Amino acid sequence: MAFNLPELPYSKDAFGDLISAETFDYHHGKHHQAYVTKANELIAADAALQGKSLAELIRSSKGVLFNQVGQIWNHSFYWLCLSPEKTQPSAELKAKIDEAFGSTDALLEKLKAEAVGHFASGWAALVLKDGKLEVTSYHDADTPVAYEGVQPLFILDVWEHAYYIDYRNARPNYAEALLKNAINWDFVSQNLDGRGVERADQKAEEMA
Ligand code: MN
Repeated sequence: MAFNLPELPYSKDAFGDLISAETFDYHHGKHHQAYVTKANELIAADAALQGKSLAELIRSSKGVLFNQVGQIWNHSFYWLCLSPEKTQPSAELKAKIDEAFGSTDALLEKLKAEAVGHFASGWAALVLKDGKLEVTSYHDADTPVAYEGVQPLFILDVWEHAYYIDYRNARPNYAEALLKNAINWDFVSQNLDGRGVERADQKAEEMA
């Protein structure tokens, strides 16, 4: 074994209709797992890639391997960004949000617009860039981990596989529902410390 599929930090039925257990079965159990499996195949075939963390591989690879390790990290972080419990931004984060966007509702509207407006597959994100909050998005397997000076606070999967079971083609409904009801603000607030990347990172175990 090299990289592992991280366990979900909640039960698959914890979100009710918001995110169904069936979505977790496919999204975590099959899509996320497939990125882990493929990355491990590529790493097993090249000794120079072994013993590295996801972040190290993201920052040093391109093409097929980048896509796999980027997606392992992105999904690992995405699961941590969600919570079935109602949470609120910390006072520190709230102050930064108000300064940058005016209000939390305004931030959520901007995140929704970014998620809906992002063409094709990718990720909408709230990041800290040079100390300032910024809403942005990434194409396909691209990830904030790849960018120097960017600290990820929150990401939202906007690949069709994230919403097709529960919301069919309606990405706006998925984005609206999760942004309003499923953000783990405790986790997002914690990431202001600049350690968000490592919270979803892992180092490959020694391979036989
Ligand atoms: Mn996904």
